[in-house]
Amino acid sequence: MEFHFYNRAVETLEREELRRLQDGKLRALMQELETNRFYREKLRRAGIDGEQVRRYEDLRALPYTTKNELVEEQRLHPPYGNLLTYHLSRYCYFHQTSGTTGSPLKWLDTEEDWETWLRCWGAVYRAAGVTEDDMVFGAFSFGPYVSHWTAMAGARHIGALALPGGGMSSEQRLRTILDSGCTVLVSTPTYALYLAEMAGQRGMDLRSSAVRITIHAGEPGASVPAVKRRIEEAWGATCYDHAGATEVGAWAFDCEAQSGAIHLNEAEFVFEVIDPQTGEPVAEGARGELVVTTLGRAGMPVLRYRTGDLVEMATEPCPCGRTLRHVKGGLLGRADDMLIVRGVNLYPSAVDHVIRSLPEIVEYEVEIRRVNGSDDLRIRIETVEEQHFERTRRLLLEAFQAQFNLRVQVEKAAPGSLPRYELKARRYRRISE
Ligand SMILES: [Zn+2]
Repeated sequence: MEFHFYNRAVETLEREELRRLQDGKLRALMQELETNRFYREKLRRAGIDGEQVRRYEDLRALPYTTKNELVEEQRLHPPYGNLLTYHLSRYCYFHQTSGTTGSPLKWLDTEEDWETWLRCWGAVYRAAGVTEDDMVFGAFSFGPYVSHWTAMAGARHIGALALPGGGMSSEQRLRTILDSGCTVLVSTPTYALYLAEMAGQRGMDLRSSAVRITIHAGEPGASVPAVKRRIEEAWGATCYDHAGATEVGAWAFDCEAQSGAIHLNEAEFVFEVIDPQTGEPVAEGARGELVVTTLGRAGMPVLRYRTGDLVEMATEPCPCGRTLRHVKGGLLGRADDMLIVRGVNLYPSAVDHVIRSLPEIVEYEVEIRRVNGSDDLRIRIETVEEQHFERTRRLLLEAFQAQFNLRVQVEKAAPGSLPRYELKARRYRRISE
């Protein structure tokens, strides 16, 4: 098959050439940082002279940047901390994070930073085969979330038609998708499944709709095989994963090779994989936390930023021909999300895969109780038909036994009683004793 690229020349560069490109961008960034108080201080404390940074390796002495550090910086020096490189008048875009794990982070972009966003989204769309003939529906709330706005701006950037689905009920969104002939859906994986569930109840046929591509982020779901399969079956489309964060950008994208790995956009970022406990780099191909340096957002950059996302770098080349590295199974979970159940290390994405493999389960919730240093799992499930609960419960218990050699508790939830999510789903709840 013919693979699509956003910038084929850059995406297929020899590794040495790519490193030179990154280092050139890094040197330009370091010059700008002279006026960034936060990083000027951080570099000074690490004994690094910005002008001496010629290659990425020269930054290795710089301590990582953490989200807590950024939040604390904005708390101490409201509203933006000392994180801005330029005078406020140079910035054109304000966004903030949802603040689900603490205070929202406020993030500003200049026009040049925004163009980086557009290139990143251009890579997401083109690698999924989206062209100027496509109509892209953004099924989200907008508000101050940068990913929602950049998803639409990115679609326009590659010449596609962008349909913003903000301020609509789910039913209105479904009608718009069907009536307008949208060919691409952008949403969280959970919300794509919720729309499919609702379409089923309303007798709407999504499989015969014009939607041929679905693109997801916000949760690891689209790279979880059982979730991906479910979305593809419900929509009659190919499902693509990607990853991003407000303070970083849209840093990874799926490609048409559909190999189960997603590419890191090394044209715009530098990546490292570290052991989340020790902070040391992991061995080639080993699992670890992803650390990112933004090369193209000089207005509010992050250097050696700990994303908290666990990844495992693929070592074999991708059939699409890109030399940009790729991570197997997308985001495997959050470094701080690992569950320890009776001595077994479990990531939520692995649990999701098992649960989503049972088509009878419509929605679910997992309660985690820590007892004597071990996590106990209680899973509440909603089934398509209430009378199928017992059978589904048995299948789920067997699946947990077979996959993880684990006993879990499975309880029944009344139809429609569990929350449905439009933004990041929160199906895992920790109950403290
Ligand atoms: Zn590829």
